[in-house]
Amino acid sequence: MKSETRQCQNCKKDFTIEPDDFSFYEKIKVPPPTFCPECRSQLRLIFRNERFLYKRNCDNCKRSTISMFSANKTYPVWCHECWRSDDLKGKNYGMEYDPKKSFFKQFNELWQKVPKPALVHMNSINSEYLNHTADTKNCYMIMESSNNENCINCYWIQLSKELVDCSFTNKVELSYEVDDCYDCHSLRFCKGCYSCLNSAFLFDCRGCTNCLGCINLRQQKYHIFNEPYTKEEYEEKLKSFKLDTHSGVENFKKEFRNFIKNKPRKFAEVFNVVNSTGNYMTNVKNNRYCFHSYDAEDNAYCIHAWRVAKNCMDCNTSGRTAELVYNSLNIGMQCSNIICSYYCWESSFMQYCLNCPNSNNCFGCAGLIQGSYCILNKQYSKEEYIKLRTEIIERMKQEEIYGNFFPKELSPYGYNESSVVDEFPLTKEQALAQGFKWEDTPRGNYGKETIVWKNFPDSISELPTDFNVSKEVFVCKECNKNYRIIADELSFYRRMKIPIPRNCPECRHETRLKNRGPNKLWHRQCMCDKKHIHHEGRCEVEFETSYASDRPEIVYCEKCYQQEVY
Ligand SMILES: [Zn+2]
Ligand SMILES: [Zn+2]
Ligand SMILES: [Zn+2]
Ligand SMILES: [Zn+2]
Ligand SMILES: [Zn+2]
Repeated sequence: MKSETRQCQNCKKDFTIEPDDFSFYEKIKVPPPTFCPECRSQLRLIFRNERFLYKRNCDNCKRSTISMFSANKTYPVWCHECWRSDDLKGKNYGMEYDPKKSFFKQFNELWQKVPKPALVHMNSINSEYLNHTADTKNCYMIMESSNNENCINCYWIQLSKELVDCSFTNKVELSYEVDDCYDCHSLRFCKGCYSCLNSAFLFDCRGCTNCLGCINLRQQKYHIFNEPYTKEEYEEKLKSFKLDTHSGVENFKKEFRNFIKNKPRKFAEVFNVVNSTGNYMTNVKNNRYCFHSYDAEDNAYCIHAWRVAKNCMDCNTSGRTAELVYNSLNIGMQCSNIICSYYCWESSFMQYCLNCPNSNNCFGCAGLIQGSYCILNKQYSKEEYIKLRTEIIERMKQEEIYGNFFPKELSPYGYNESSVVDEFPLTKEQALAQGFKWEDTPRGNYGKETIVWKNFPDSISELPTDFNVSKEVFVCKECNKNYRIIADELSFYRRMKIPIPRNCPECRHETRLKNRGPNKLWHRQCMCDKKHIHHEGRCEVEFETSYASDRPEIVYCEKCYQQEVY
């Protein structure tokens, strides 16, 4: 089989279907896509809202609840407890398939009347504001995460404890403002670190302890700006930076940015990676165009394919054992053979299903728990099910829609509240012109602040012991939105001697996300022109990198980068 170039029916750009893609489509019996990978991703992501939460009433128990659906939405939304209770009888909404009508039209009828879960999470203890999480204890404002304890304002963290404002961590403890770190303890303001301890402002370091403001450092102790110090000198100098003050942190951030500006970066944040392209990958094999993936193999066009994801294509979040998943979102926990679906945990052989955990062999179902051999939420015998499913798929193939995600009109969210905004930002005018919806419900308050920053103590230690944080309203220096700090968060700052952040959690999250770079690749040549063993003159190695060609960073291939680590 050869690769083929086709034109995307949406953006009209050319895209390539690789031989491996063809064999995957054959394996799952889906025709090759007519949308390019980017359009596939955009059309999928409008079906997920991770972070924009609202207060509204549950349409079952009528109590106030936190929800990813604003109160003005027309379909029923049930609180997490009701949706997971016996009250939800998904099959009561079952519909007879009508071969004279289009499948998506009929699915939409079901989709509009079946209750939607206010939030998606499971096994949560003493935690609030969770979405797309599992096995969470004593957490607050955590998204896309599992097996965490005592964490606040985090995104995509796993097996972590006592974190505030962190993202993309695995086995990290007692840390603040950390991104893309693994097996670390007591870090603050660090990125791309493995097995580091008691350190701050590290970038791409391994096995470092008591280090400050370092980049590309390996197995070192007591270093500042990559220079060694004695323990006493280090402690003295550390004190002089006053990292317990707002001004001290801001100054150090500037100094560190300056220091790393001209230091070489590796073409991609990858570690123990075989035959793969993408960024932020650890322990992966044969991953193509994947971003943020670990303990995974044979995946393509996936974002967050992890422990253990195998043979997944076009997925956003597939893991905790997921195999043969195509064009889907949030599929995991012993899942296999899933096509064009969202939130089917512990499920198998599902197609075109939304919100159907613990189910198997369902087609075109929504809001169904423990379903089996159902189509449009109606129960069939195994034989009837196979016959009718084949009929619907044949019809969809004739209409050339089989394998496409649901049409955008069926998205339950406005463009601006779905996770698509991180990947494909659009203005309201652009989104509406392209046929997307927009949510006008205002988010957050403005001008209600009780804190005036210029009168606020610079150091966390100067904050009075009786400071009642729950009564205070803060104002973001970046977006002017009001935000609150919960008591547990303040005690974390006090204990870690970290000044209270002066921007809102949303801006902190967005800054971390922006610093990760886009989930895109550019083909480039290594920029090294030093004399290294494998080259004289400019290094000729080429690679796929998320650093766009016009980025100011100095980007090296693996071999040249390894010559530059300390
Ligand atoms: Zn396209
Ligand atoms: Zn309820
Ligand atoms: Zn803000
Ligand atoms: Zn090189
Ligand atoms: Zn070189």
